[in-house]
Amino acid sequence: MSEQSAPITFRDLADIDLARLKAVGAGKRRENFGKFGIENLADLLTHYPRRWIDRTREARIEDLVEGLDALVVAEVRAVSSPPRGRGPSRVTATIGDDTGRLTVVFFNQPWRERQLAPGSLVAVHGKVTAFRGQRQMANPTVDVLGDPGERPRPIVSVYPQSEKVDLPSWVVRRAVDEALSRCRARGLDDPVPASILERFTLASRQDALFGIHLPDTFAVKEAARRRLAFDELLRVQLVLVMRKRAMERDSVGIVHRVDGPLVRRFLADLPYRLTGAQERVIREIERDLADPRPMHRLLQGDVGAGKTLVAVVAMLVGVDGGHQSALMAPTEVLAEQHASGIRRLLDGLRIPSDENLFGEREVRVELLTNSVTGEKRRDVLAGLADGSVDIVIGTHALIQEGVEFASLGVVVVDEQHRFGVEQRAALRDKGQADGRSPDVLVMTATPIPRTAAMTVYGDLDVSILDEKPPGRTPIVTRHARGVEANDVWADVRDQVSRGRQAYVVCPLIEESEKLEVASAEETRIRLETGELAGLRVGLLHGRMSSAEKEAVMDSFRTGRLDVLVATTVIEVGVDVPNATAMVILDADRFGIAQLHQLRGRVGRGSHESTCWLVTSAAGDESTLVAEVSPRVEALVESDDGFHLAEVDLELRGEGTLMNKEQKGRSDLKLASLRRDRELVAMAREAAFAVVDDDPTLASHAALRDELELFLRPEDEEFLFKS
Ligand code: ADP
Ligand code: MG
Repeated sequence: MSEQSAPITFRDLADIDLARLKAVGAGKRRENFGKFGIENLADLLTHYPRRWIDRTREARIEDLVEGLDALVVAEVRAVSSPPRGRGPSRVTATIGDDTGRLTVVFFNQPWRERQLAPGSLVAVHGKVTAFRGQRQMANPTVDVLGDPGERPRPIVSVYPQSEKVDLPSWVVRRAVDEALSRCRARGLDDPVPASILERFTLASRQDALFGIHLPDTFAVKEAARRRLAFDELLRVQLVLVMRKRAMERDSVGIVHRVDGPLVRRFLADLPYRLTGAQERVIREIERDLADPRPMHRLLQGDVGAGKTLVAVVAMLVGVDGGHQSALMAPTEVLAEQHASGIRRLLDGLRIPSDENLFGEREVRVELLTNSVTGEKRRDVLAGLADGSVDIVIGTHALIQEGVEFASLGVVVVDEQHRFGVEQRAALRDKGQADGRSPDVLVMTATPIPRTAAMTVYGDLDVSILDEKPPGRTPIVTRHARGVEANDVWADVRDQVSRGRQAYVVCPLIEESEKLEVASAEETRIRLETGELAGLRVGLLHGRMSSAEKEAVMDSFRTGRLDVLVATTVIEVGVDVPNATAMVILDADRFGIAQLHQLRGRVGRGSHESTCWLVTSAAGDESTLVAEVSPRVEALVESDDGFHLAEVDLELRGEGTLMNKEQKGRSDLKLASLRRDRELVAMAREAAFAVVDDDPTLASHAALRDELELFLRPEDEEFLFKS
């Protein structure tokens, strides 16, 4: 087959400038396309319609019924607006078809006068009303379809528009029409293997591009969308799966012994039984640890699901085989908290050792943060280098220059969305003198839906702890508006009088930690001298030194404080079972995941706990809208982190889920991690099938070429360096 007659690829399309289309040309129009980021034919054909108008359902003007919604396609006959200046602006247009005329009015949309040029064909959709005996529509939605000469289609695609750039939908449609008809002769190449298209019953690339832009039926349009969304997700998954496989290929891991004496003793001595989920997840992790390939696993689990225990088992497996284990936490408070928690868990656990007379020694657990300095720091560093420290818990300090391990075997990263791929890699690289990589377990307490995890953490395997330890008393969550806060403080006093303790979390102030701290200090004083007078009220915030923080936490833990006023530093990890009341001030300023994390600080013991979400008073001048924030409402209704994660995704959209790096890479125009779960799973499965069969895509040239076209250079370099 000659080069000329080979089917057209996206690469070919990307090489053709838009100016070559008759419908565009090299002038002003080309420039306006450019302002929309559309430079070549590939850009144009992936500039998808934002809506499709079903002209089979349009009504003739004479048939319009007052009080009902209708879609009318008609020509603009006249447009006018009264002189500006007084009152709200009003634009009135008259549109007409063969059967009659209809008045459409727009309030406060002066730009409509420009949009509705007489002679153009428009689709208006809205409710038919009567005004002074005449039928009209007020503020309908409007799409300018083009000029009346345009060939009528059963379904009209409407393209994204902006008030700032003059690029009417019909201009885009004509350009697309021309581009597609020029492709027809040679045909569009399909880079996805036929076996995959068949397996998932996907339309061909060519049918999909025609079908999304120029559909004849809505079924065709849907099939087209499904295929093109799949392609977007497949590109993302191919990158992730190639990265995952490359990591596995390039690194040699440690074959850990998983039934060592330390792990066995530890589990036998636990005062409780593992939950079913903990057992399952530990088995998944142990399988990875025993495998010669290094583990890269994400452990997702709700607050209080018992992740720490799982992490400790993984770390002990490392120690059992004579290696070291490290846990990296995102903040000093958390690292300290983990260190003291893990020391308590391991208290009394002894390792067989021939270094002393008794044949045993204690497991040595050390903390390494930037606050560990001087003699202590030298001691810890020396112990890491000579292997006498078994488990180290720390912050970013662990991945700094000068931290050397004798033999790092297992790494746990408590992530909280705060570390990136690079930092995980940096700790992994501290591994072994002989180049073997440690096994890595990433923990997150902010669950995200499984399919979203496949994308956000797509280079990791995923384990889910979806069961909480028994014996928890559920947390009652209440919403209190300003004035009702008295009930809140009464409840806090009541709990304290029964020997319990309470947290009060102060509003998050994104812009300034200083302001946040000031407000926390103020709140503490206010409560101590007012609503909570007589109680012992402490303060914890991010600007305190770690020694100060530790001292306050210790007072609270040991019951020398009744109430702890804090900023969000207590969001994660803090574990005081006697605390049964959580009061979150200005709760509507927090995100769902954060509220859920904060709430998870109570309900950790056998006493019933309450979480109060306090928002400003209804009718308060600062909040004219008295609606309950949907986030607060979600928290009141559900205590299930995975369910809340779904709600969060629903409310915020997926944009916020991914960090910048991931957003840049996955340009999802059609696909939605929220709506297209089935497609995400399919794309992941397809990516594994392709990559496992052909790791460098050597025999999938078209697919590889397309990845290079869509990928950022960094990814490309990573994936295709060889
Ligand atoms: P997470 O880190 O997932 O938020 P933790 O590991 O802090 O949860 O566990 C929460 C609490 O539950 C801790 O006090 C822990 O000792 C306890 N716990 C963990 N596993 C079990 C279990 N199987 N049975 C009873 N209690 C458990
Ligand atoms: Mg291994």
